[in-house]
Amino acid sequence: MTTMPQSRSRYDASLSQFERAADLLGLDDEARLILSQPYRELRVEVPVRMDDGSLRMFTGYRVQHNGARGPYKGGVRYHPDADLDEVRTLAALMTWKCALMDIPFGGAKGGVQCDPASLSESELNRLTRRYTQNISYILGVNRDIPGPDMGTNAMTMAWMMDAYGQRYGYTPGIVTGKPVDLGGSYGREEATGHGVAYVIEQWCRDAGRDPAATRVAIQGYGNVGRWLARSLAKSGYTLVAVSDVSGGVYAGCGLDIERLEGWVSETHSVSGLPGGDAVSNAEVLCLPCDILVPAAIGDVITEANCASVRAPVIIEAANHPVTPEADVWLAEQGCTIVPDILANGGGVTVSYFEWTQNIQQFRWEAEKVTRELEQTLRRAYECVRDLARRDGLSWRDAAMATAVSRVARAIELRSYV
Ligand code: NAD
Repeated sequence: MTTMPQSRSRYDASLSQFERAADLLGLDDEARLILSQPYRELRVEVPVRMDDGSLRMFTGYRVQHNGARGPYKGGVRYHPDADLDEVRTLAALMTWKCALMDIPFGGAKGGVQCDPASLSESELNRLTRRYTQNISYILGVNRDIPGPDMGTNAMTMAWMMDAYGQRYGYTPGIVTGKPVDLGGSYGREEATGHGVAYVIEQWCRDAGRDPAATRVAIQGYGNVGRWLARSLAKSGYTLVAVSDVSGGVYAGCGLDIERLEGWVSETHSVSGLPGGDAVSNAEVLCLPCDILVPAAIGDVITEANCASVRAPVIIEAANHPVTPEADVWLAEQGCTIVPDILANGGGVTVSYFEWTQNIQQFRWEAEKVTRELEQTLRRAYECVRDLARRDGLSWRDAAMATAVSRVARAIELRSYV
């Protein structure tokens, strides 16, 4: 395994995956130049009056990576690690994800460096409003549409919509992932987790795997992990482990999902669930299982621990959970990695449906949202699977090549340069 120089940024590391796709496509130097740089990066200082009367400054970002296929789209993350490098990396990922899902959006991402768990609801409300005001002049229903990500949720989106509306008038389509009562879409909250489950089901069907005999371990039990666990349990999969920031629980013969949900609503954590063995977050990634799903933070499977991963299949529910170096090594060992831009594309797909409904001022029934989501995911899944099979590519290379070719084509059609 090659060790990467310490100074290499996360964004530079992620470019290796873009470059591989560009090589496969024979992309010319000018297209590479345009696609390897973000279009715009905004950094804002966000002063917040704290509940105790003191003033604290937070740093926020909004990065717009590429808008050739439509308005910029991407979530807003509240996390201590949400620095410019991370936000930039995630913005590029959104460009490729939207292209692979074939929805008419470009890629963006936002972030505020903070620990949301240490802030009160009113502090989060003030922080969100000021951050929204500070980035509002680059937002717009046809320009850039934020949504939720780690550390933010429907409530955050309601505050963002309200703050934007105070300046520009009633504009529900300015954010997605809003509460349904404020113009959100049915099915948005569960879309990412359901989408990951749908991809797992397709993969198992192709591989001739019986759900009950398929052991799944999930790292992360937030919005994505929880809905994923629910969906998989409903379809008869054997959920052997789950974890959250405070630790995890393992049961080789399967966890009882109802008992798990009851325990989490009582204790606000999966750890300590009776009937399972306690495991650390690091151990969850190395348990014996058939499918491993990192669904928490990025960079959890690295050069340091990839040799201990025992799952033959990794489904990336989180963004960038496997570092590019570990990705290459695992692929060489025969591990199948279904990349984030395919596996978790259900979230942005239903965000697109929400935006569409807001523009049309017409609400879709939940059944229609699910039907359209599955259709979009199936198309993307089959496209990647068929290309990977035809050209003997990894799923990541096939997904990236598909996405990059679509964005490159949009640039060419617009005659950018
Ligand atoms: P969330 O904030 O709701 O939940 C995150 C989960 O990860 C929690 O269970 C938390 O306890 C756990 N966690 C946090 N830090 C951890 C650590 N150091 N080690 C282990 N676990 C840790 O976030 P989410 O919305 O569920 O998003 C999870 C991942 O999925 C993120 O990478 C996000 O970018 C990605 N994603 C989310 C969506 C979406 O619609 N929510 C869409 C696409 C991708």
